[in-house]
Amino acid sequence: MLGCVIHGAGDLRVDRLPTPEPGPGEVLVAVRYGGVCGSDLHYWRHGGVGDFRLKEPMVLGHEVVGTVAGHGPGTSAPAAGTPVAVHPATPCGNCPECRSGRRHVCRDTRYLGSAARHPHVQGGFAAALAVPAAQVRPLPPALPLPRAALAEPLAVALHAVRRAGDVAGRHVLVTGAGPIGCLVVAAARAAGAARVTVSDLLPRALEFASVAGADALVRADDPAGAGWPQEVDVAVEASGVSAGLDACLHRVRRGGVVVQLGMLPPGPSPFAGNLVVSREIELRGSFRFDTEFDTALELLARRPELAGLVSAVLPVTEAERAFALAADRAVSCKVLLDFAPGAPSGLEDRA
Ligand SMILES: [Zn+2]
Ligand SMILES: [Zn+2]
Repeated sequence: MLGCVIHGAGDLRVDRLPTPEPGPGEVLVAVRYGGVCGSDLHYWRHGGVGDFRLKEPMVLGHEVVGTVAGHGPGTSAPAAGTPVAVHPATPCGNCPECRSGRRHVCRDTRYLGSAARHPHVQGGFAAALAVPAAQVRPLPPALPLPRAALAEPLAVALHAVRRAGDVAGRHVLVTGAGPIGCLVVAAARAAGAARVTVSDLLPRALEFASVAGADALVRADDPAGAGWPQEVDVAVEASGVSAGLDACLHRVRRGGVVVQLGMLPPGPSPFAGNLVVSREIELRGSFRFDTEFDTALELLARRPELAGLVSAVLPVTEAERAFALAADRAVSCKVLLDFAPGAPSGLEDRA
């Protein structure tokens, strides 16, 4: 089978890989679509993401959907042919974080396509994937596969909004309108935010934010500062650059909450720490998700317009072109790889 393997910075290959055999308790998923994530792009460009470095070749990908193609010993569900999404995480269940209900920051988790541990956990950008049955979720009936491929990044966004506390009736600022920022807009909307303002440098990115339901769009580099709200209740930093964090700290009200969701460059980052002190701003990190994955699938089933965030679908054989396209934020939002090009697609769902 074909798989999309990162061998080092700038060295992305479509390799022939052995088709996996599902082990005890595992389900074999015929992968159809895989969403190219910012972290996949980081592995491709820099050989690492955040503080995690690549030490050996790794199959990328953790945003995967497909259909059940087989079962290992001791498991028979979901039935063969069922459309499913794959939850990318298997927390250890034993560490202090798992025991205290914060499984998403488990110190010993296995996360698809991540170099956080060594040997790395191989990812899902391949025509077939064997995973523990507990990671497999049947799709709600109204949810086509391409839209379902947004479940993982939407779960990330739902978790960030949950970290912000109760946003109902509040004004939320989101800095960065990449796929994650756009999905934070959708998550904030779903949580009852009264107003959502989004900032980005690129007009096309802001257009995607309006597809997701943003009320107000701000060009982050507008010299006049036009469009910036005076004050917001909550800010979610989704750009992963310190200028975004700076904007959040300056715009959030006294006593407000800033959630840092974007992965910042490795090492120390400068930030306006004195504002955190003098305004008693609560600065909170947000990392991955747990049960929000199931909420994401339900929300996607109810919000067909979110399919409009899928800006391109390319066959796996054109993986490098797909990655370049995903990295071009002037034109792209979420780019999907297709591991079974030619089969009926569900793409008529796209706006
Ligand atoms: Zn992702
Ligand atoms: Zn754990």
